[in-house]
Amino acid sequence: GKLVYAFGGGDAEGRTGMKDLLGGKGANLAEMASLGLPVPPGFTITTEVCTAFYANGRQYPDGLREEVASALAKVEEVVGARFGDASNPLLVSVRSGARASMPGMMDTVLNLGLNDETAKGLAERSGDERFAYDSYRRFIQMYADVVLGMAHHDFEEILDDYKMDRDYVLDTELSASDWRGVIAEYKRAVEHRLGEPFPQDPQAQLWGAIDAVFGSWMNERSKTYRRLNNIPEAWGTAVNVQAMVFGNMGQTSATGVAFTRDPSTGENAIYGEYLINAQGEDVVAGIRTPQSLTRDGRERQGTDGPSLEEAMPETYAELLSVFETLESHYRDMQDIEFTIQEGTLWMLQTRTGKRTAKAALKIAVDLCEEGKIDAREAVMRVDPSALDQLLHPTLDPDAPRDLLTRGLPASPGAASGEVVFSADEAEAAANAGRRVILVRVETSPEDIHGMHAAAGILTARGGMTSHAAVVARGMGRPCVCGAGDLRMEKDGEAVIAGGRRIGRGEAITIDGATGEVFFGAVPTVEPELSGDFATLMGWADGFRRMGVRANAETPLDAKTARGFGAEGIGLCRTEHMFFDAERILAVREMILSESESSRQAALAKLLPHQRSDFTELFTVMRGLPVTVRLLDPPLHEFLPQSDEEIAEVARAAGADPEAFSRRARQLEEQNPMLGHRGCRLGISYPEIYEMQVRALMEAACDVVAETGEAVVPEVMVPLVATRAELSRLRTRIEAVADAVFEEKGRRLDYLVGTMIELPRAALTADEIAGDAEFFSFGTNDLTQTTFGLSRDDAGSFLPAYVKNGLLPQDPFVSLDKEGVGALVRIAAEKGRAVKPDLKLGICGEHGGDPASIAFCEGVGLTYVSCSPYRVPIARLAAAQAAI
Ligand code: ADP
Ligand code: MG
Ligand code: MG
Repeated sequence: GKLVYAFGGGDAEGRTGMKDLLGGKGANLAEMASLGLPVPPGFTITTEVCTAFYANGRQYPDGLREEVASALAKVEEVVGARFGDASNPLLVSVRSGARASMPGMMDTVLNLGLNDETAKGLAERSGDERFAYDSYRRFIQMYADVVLGMAHHDFEEILDDYKMDRDYVLDTELSASDWRGVIAEYKRAVEHRLGEPFPQDPQAQLWGAIDAVFGSWMNERSKTYRRLNNIPEAWGTAVNVQAMVFGNMGQTSATGVAFTRDPSTGENAIYGEYLINAQGEDVVAGIRTPQSLTRDGRERQGTDGPSLEEAMPETYAELLSVFETLESHYRDMQDIEFTIQEGTLWMLQTRTGKRTAKAALKIAVDLCEEGKIDAREAVMRVDPSALDQLLHPTLDPDAPRDLLTRGLPASPGAASGEVVFSADEAEAAANAGRRVILVRVETSPEDIHGMHAAAGILTARGGMTSHAAVVARGMGRPCVCGAGDLRMEKDGEAVIAGGRRIGRGEAITIDGATGEVFFGAVPTVEPELSGDFATLMGWADGFRRMGVRANAETPLDAKTARGFGAEGIGLCRTEHMFFDAERILAVREMILSESESSRQAALAKLLPHQRSDFTELFTVMRGLPVTVRLLDPPLHEFLPQSDEEIAEVARAAGADPEAFSRRARQLEEQNPMLGHRGCRLGISYPEIYEMQVRALMEAACDVVAETGEAVVPEVMVPLVATRAELSRLRTRIEAVADAVFEEKGRRLDYLVGTMIELPRAALTADEIAGDAEFFSFGTNDLTQTTFGLSRDDAGSFLPAYVKNGLLPQDPFVSLDKEGVGALVRIAAEKGRAVKPDLKLGICGEHGGDPASIAFCEGVGLTYVSCSPYRVPIARLAAAQAAI
């Protein structure tokens, strides 16, 4: 096929849509040329040449040299100059350009085609000797650096010495003959280093640069970058060869970069920089300070020289109209590179600009309101995961900060407060109205009330899926975990971080988005959830099919979730209601009691607590469904650990500490995750579930009586493996509900259903559906049981699986579609075959993951449920999945 695509002179053989073949840069240069924009002519050697080059032992396909030669001849014709012609030389740039932008690739070589002869010719023809030799010295340095593998700084040193010897400070003080002197030294350095002279033959230079671009596709930097960014090796890179235009031809020449809108705020205002009398690399090299493009920008960007708007008003106006053309053509914010040669504007690159989440929102909404895109497209334009940045408080960007240490960015948001070292302390301080940061070596389920009370959590140990990280994300608490240099003092009165001692009550600030920990209280700014955010979410809701619910058990989390647009609760974990200091005693009493009657006595103490929890929660959520999961975790999680704790429980129960201690040992399990937990508890101790159902039905009746509005309770039985388990428990649940309705004198609608979190349940879902009005996929446990993989123990080997490509991603973060997903699909199909109106939901971390949400849409789930702070992410992701 065709190996080379030409562009320029008002036309092009390529198009934007051909990025796979031409790379991003080449495809967009072609598109700009065919739009009639001023693009220096050139040609693109395709990515297929790169692929063929590597497939054939680094040999170019037949015919490439001929195609390049004829494309180059076309460029010569358009420009009216000839490559290698001593009196009228064509110069070119050689630019790499893969499909995705790749920092690991070869840099661009400018001014290629210069040698001792053509430099002289360029000087004569342009009448500007200084310009010609400035370009030649730039070329030698770049070519030697990029193609010949010499170091940039070798040349910098030569130039610095040259300037020092002559008392020059700025490059602009060097005359044409100075540059000739520098060039002679540059050439000597090359010959000295490489044992041969700097290549004078323009054809050799051209092919040297082309070889270097294709060669760089397989260098270590590129390989690493590809691995980290999931870019397939098979894509290959393209090479662009393009006629040079010169921004270094004096005061009416310049080079610059621009965004058509502000990439950090999204504001519809040009944001850019330029340099007079310079070439492209000078803007980034930082030798001179670039100036703002616009007059307004001068203040915002803090530059003092004249803006382009002021210095070259006509060219600026032309540039503005090009921006408009490009924005309306691409219908998105563009990131642009341009050069002005003696007052004439040339476009060198355009691409869709990278932006912050805030800018993405604003730009999508603005473009829609400007009529450039419709609401559907606006909704598709915003990356749901990026919303996370916007939903939490962030550090005030202007506030001073004093970095103490760093850990992992485990849960986003910034928070400051006094340090406390235990959950009880955190709770007491919060009750007294103080903001605290809970600092622990690591956290366990017993710390949950303290994590809840804290404004933020900091741990010394544990990774992104540690207890602290998972729970904090679920609660929307900022969390930094695994801050390795954190040490607790032995007496538990202080923590040492970054070599400094922070005593109890002293203030620190954590930034859960970056993992940074600061000394003192750094002011934060609250997220802005109205305006563009609200507008876009409103559009998203219009496209969404699935419902979005939240996982929440406290009134505060439920309020947060409603505020974020949750349409109900998909998972209320009742055990989280058990961990508070007073209740845990009754819970332990219940567990350690041998007889049913003493268990009943302990449960009777818990009932009013549980009922008032539900009353509060149902009041917040009235009018919406609330799925309540009956007690699920292994009993051992509640067991007292020390002898003192056991004694305390025994005292409260009026029982023998010896007996309790024996029973605690009996209850210990080898493998609690697969042990006595979930509905197995309800089977062994039906009175636990009966108490819970009573509490929630009483609460629901009370809330209707009080507010006139009901929640629709959905009673959920966890860890069901067989229909028999569910049938047995369902009978009990219905009996308790009936009894409560009898007592209260009113009946409520409610559902009974089950989690599908064991492979057996998924495979026999048609049977189980006979006793269930809904299924909720507990994909955390379903992932554990499908892979036979304990999430708590996976940290030591799972990351290596992902890194080495044995798994595409952590299956606890994004649903494993082939395995776990197959079970979800089977269960959904079998369940609906029996009961077409069976409600299907997903709870657990996957319910807030955009890729998993797309999968759920494909399976036809009724709703997804996720942590409160992920509700907007899920709303947007669900909309995108439905579009
Ligand atoms: P990158 O991908 O690193 O941005 P480019 O290939 O875009 O590399 O080149 C960087 C800069 O080099 C451009 O922004 C432009 O200023 C300059 N440049 C590239 N090609 C030309 C050319 N044909 N004429 C003038 N300047 C050029
Ligand atoms: Mg560029
Ligand atoms: Mg579970």
